[in-house]
Amino acid sequence: MSGRAVFRFAKFPLAVRRLASMPERPRDTVVRASGGKKPESMRTITLEEHFATPEVLKASAELQSPSRNNFVKAVEEKLLDLGKVRIADMDAAGIDLQVISLTNAGLDKLDGPRATSLARDSNDKLAAAVKAYPQRFAGFAALALQEPQKAAAELERSVQKLGFKGVLIHGTTKGVFLDDPQFTPIFEAAQALDIPIYLHPTLPPKPVEEAYFSGLPGQLGFYLSTAAWGWHVETGLHCLRLIGSGLFDRFPKLNIIIGHMGEDLPFSIARAESVLSRDTKHLKRKISEYFQEHFYITTSGYFTVPPFLCTLQVVGADRILFSVDYPYSPNSIGRNFLNALPVSTEDLGKISHGNAERLLKV
Ligand code: MN
Repeated sequence: MSGRAVFRFAKFPLAVRRLASMPERPRDTVVRASGGKKPESMRTITLEEHFATPEVLKASAELQSPSRNNFVKAVEEKLLDLGKVRIADMDAAGIDLQVISLTNAGLDKLDGPRATSLARDSNDKLAAAVKAYPQRFAGFAALALQEPQKAAAELERSVQKLGFKGVLIHGTTKGVFLDDPQFTPIFEAAQALDIPIYLHPTLPPKPVEEAYFSGLPGQLGFYLSTAAWGWHVETGLHCLRLIGSGLFDRFPKLNIIIGHMGEDLPFSIARAESVLSRDTKHLKRKISEYFQEHFYITTSGYFTVPPFLCTLQVVGADRILFSVDYPYSPNSIGRNFLNALPVSTEDLGKISHGNAERLLKV
């Protein structure tokens, strides 16, 4: 769109802009009629919301780059709080329930026993907070995947004893993707427990960081390798690897949640399928069918309408869940985005709470 078109466009009232901004009528949606239920009055659940324990931050600070440590340091106070500070921030943005997970702290870089012990301790601390505020907090388990059998046992404990609603996994473990057979116990446990796996980005392996993200001024390489770009395309790749490996034929009830408006997959899935289908005789279904039937997508950190509309058209409103990525993204910006979504009242209800209630039983 040219700059002039944007200028004229900005003069339209909001309702008209909602209509005009849609390239075609998205599947399963209509523009919200005036007089419909206000988004602010709906129950609002977010599910890519992070915390940290002092022990985990200390362990990760020893391992991670100064750039990553500064990234975490900027929000450290909010990460460490599982009480009044967090709830006040939720209240200010009208968020009723946060599903909380351990932040990306490089547990995969530690030796197995230490990581397993830190994950278990952080799960206990999160469970205590959920117990203190059961109406406001729910939990996703943290696991140390270096020890897959123990991780599967910890997942079982987290769901059955601590009442967690799923597990959040940070991408690769020592550079290995989850389609590697060593991680099968995790998928067996997730399917048996009937809980989703939230697949969250992580820092790239060193050889990738050096080959793809070095040689740029200042912090640009770090940012490009993480939240600006690298995290998202790597997580999208991770999903395509899971699909291509036949994981969902082996685990037909498995559900994966991904954040960041689908980690570029809604935009790219048709092209990926057209190319990959040249060699997918080992799969029972089409690439896009696995994507549309096993994945849920959250809005975490992606608060603009064009990628939302793309996602809506590709997966539909039953598979999009509102999330913020607190404290890395502000709750207030997430709230403003949710309020302005160009969807029907019914679809808004699904996105703000209905899909999460169904998927997580919250
Ligand atoms: Mn996140």
